[in-house]
Amino acid sequence: MKPENRAFHPRLHIVVAVACASVAAAACGSSAGTTSDMRAEAAPGAPGVPYANMPALAPIGVRVDKYLDVPDAAKGPAVDPARGYRTQKLGDGLYMITGGANQSMFMTYEEGVVVVDAPPTYAAHIPKAVAEVTDKPITHLIYSHAHIDHIGGATSLGAKPTIIAHTETNRLLKRGGDPNRPLATVTFDHQYRLSVGSQVLELSYHGNAHLPGNIFIYAPKQRVLMVVDVIFPGWIPWRRFAVAQDVPAYFEQVKKINGWDFDTLVGGHVTRTGTRTDVATQLAFMEDLKAAAQTALKRTTPGEGLNPADRGNPWALFDHFIDRVVVDCMNQMIPKWSTKLAGFDVYIWDQCYSMEQSLRID
Ligand SMILES: [Zn+2]
Repeated sequence: MKPENRAFHPRLHIVVAVACASVAAAACGSSAGTTSDMRAEAAPGAPGVPYANMPALAPIGVRVDKYLDVPDAAKGPAVDPARGYRTQKLGDGLYMITGGANQSMFMTYEEGVVVVDAPPTYAAHIPKAVAEVTDKPITHLIYSHAHIDHIGGATSLGAKPTIIAHTETNRLLKRGGDPNRPLATVTFDHQYRLSVGSQVLELSYHGNAHLPGNIFIYAPKQRVLMVVDVIFPGWIPWRRFAVAQDVPAYFEQVKKINGWDFDTLVGGHVTRTGTRTDVATQLAFMEDLKAAAQTALKRTTPGEGLNPADRGNPWALFDHFIDRVVVDCMNQMIPKWSTKLAGFDVYIWDQCYSMEQSLRID
């Protein structure tokens, strides 16, 4: 008697379909018959069977019950909620001030105070924080760059300081016309040395990476480097390399910071200041990510598994291809980095999407 062909046994087919519907599709995605059956049931545009090897981290747009725990190494000192800010001395007359999510600085000198950035979330507290260490007035305000979350509190400092920024920052501020971000009165293109009393800040421009006009602010005596929205000590960068406008240039800037001679880094966000080790760690993460996306792009075939009815839709073809590249990128990155960087699960999908796009078109 001929043995029964189990693959076409109707009852077994139902069991497989139910199992695939109730678990992540890793083991089921290769079953062409099951996939097409389920695809036929889904309305056009509705979610279909997950890609093969779909990682366990929720993709963009899917609600998460509990994000991964923040590693201890990423945690900074807590900000007293009643106070609303925390001040940290970085060296002779130089302080970092934070409200918990943003960071800025101020530097005292013999006749006054230089403030670097005024995040709107706590800028109203800056005069109070300054008054805790000196009775001198705020005479200068430096803009790291034009973004509102770093300088939108400029008018709440309670003074009319001289504002210093890069030429490109003023161009963007003019375009925006935001009364809360007044134009700088002193601008520069390449370098600017602010020397006040016995204190010095060296401002320099290294091109557009995060945003045109985003500058490096270096305090040579205190060996403190402030670069905003590029380095995230202990954390994965904010989505899509912190919305870098030029991803290859962003990589170059992180390398430049990695080679800079400093002791303390102020990154403008997250919970603590950074060290040179933090910069090296972020660079290693980015280089791993680049290699993972390169590998995924090489071994992913466009159109494989796409519904034949969508072959004439180039947007669909690319969406399906790019998704599979990113799933591969994710699966390479998760084992090595998911417990090392805070917020890994929050933004790793975004980083893989940004990396594969930059590698294809930049
Ligand atoms: Zn920014």
